[in-house]
Amino acid sequence: MKFARRTDRMADKSMLSVMQLADAKDVISFAGGFPSPETYPVEDIKKSFYAVLEEQADAALSYSSTSGYAPLRAQIARRMRRTYGLEFSADEIIVTSGSQQALDMSGLLFIDPDDVILFETPSYLGGLNALKAYEADTVAVSTDRDGIVISDLKEKLERYGDRVKLIYVIPDYQNPTGRSWSPERRRAFMDLVSRYDVAVLEDAAYSEISFDGEVLPPLASFDRKGQVIYCGTFSKTFCPGLRIGWIAARKNLVEPFLMVKNNVDLSSCAITQMQLSHYLDHNDLDAHIEEIRALYRSRRDKMLACIKKEFPADVKVERPQGGLFIWAKLPEGKSARVLLERAVAEKVAFVPGGSFFAEDPQENTMRLNFSNMQDAEIEEGIARLGRLLKDYLAE
Ligand code: PMP
Repeated sequence: MKFARRTDRMADKSMLSVMQLADAKDVISFAGGFPSPETYPVEDIKKSFYAVLEEQADAALSYSSTSGYAPLRAQIARRMRRTYGLEFSADEIIVTSGSQQALDMSGLLFIDPDDVILFETPSYLGGLNALKAYEADTVAVSTDRDGIVISDLKEKLERYGDRVKLIYVIPDYQNPTGRSWSPERRRAFMDLVSRYDVAVLEDAAYSEISFDGEVLPPLASFDRKGQVIYCGTFSKTFCPGLRIGWIAARKNLVEPFLMVKNNVDLSSCAITQMQLSHYLDHNDLDAHIEEIRALYRSRRDKMLACIKKEFPADVKVERPQGGLFIWAKLPEGKSARVLLERAVAEKVAFVPGGSFFAEDPQENTMRLNFSNMQDAEIEEGIARLGRLLKDYLAE
């Protein structure tokens, strides 16, 4: 059979292997970006599902509206206002089937073959894969510890001119590095992009998973032209299985996005939206998020302490202030893919960092997830990786 040309652009299978590992029982996996199942409020979720089916079964088992369940959109708008001071009306929110769908929908809406999409270096593999499928040229913009490098961004905006349609960024506790942009860098970024006719896809998947209580201003809060598409998700603050995310965008973008959403799946699942809405009405999600933060903060500390003890000193790691990942760098010339082959044989997994680059992959990097393993597994998995690293770096 002849597959579409775009499938060539989807050749990086690392993400698929990560998702496939979800069911493997005997592997210590630092690979996925999975929340810890013990954080799922199962009993409260049961109650909400039961109440929704008791009281509103007809609506819950039918299609939802394409924009999403209205009470949930209003709750999302309220949360964004309360947490970030962002003023979006419920009509400027579209519920999506996970924020992954919002990334895909943005590709569908904006990208023609040979357009240019700008990505941070490195960037989220699932975002790269989703957007690459639209046959754009993916161009990497350099980053430093404060975020995207404005001079490089300017150079690329000028070089590619009208071909640049979309800039995809993750300013908060980024996947894969765990880094966040400074507030000054956010402002400078928005100052620059406001001079161009380009859409900004702000992926805020980890914005609420902060370890020190800091609230970073979203790019959307500096947006004067309506060019930011803010993508949120309940996957990391509630649970990913319900597949509920959202787009917040200004009115001029809502209609086009609704057309796209209608094309891809008519509507997101009604019952899960209604369940979440009921949960939000009857429970304190903020208190729940505090518990998640405390758990992940302690797992981050555990993993960093184990790395310090077990990894050779020339493997450099960063200390994330939030999110789910630690980014590690092996010495130049070494490949995390070689390490992964040996690690899988020892039943421990991670994602090689090379997969997270739009251009010029740094194969000596690796991403380690700390949210989804118990302390004992973190100790054992990092000890195994430490032994493998010592042998590999000595070769
Ligand atoms: N964006 C980022 C940066 C992510 O890490 C993920 C999931 N790992 C997603 C989007 C997609 O998440 P979901 O579809 O579950 O909302």
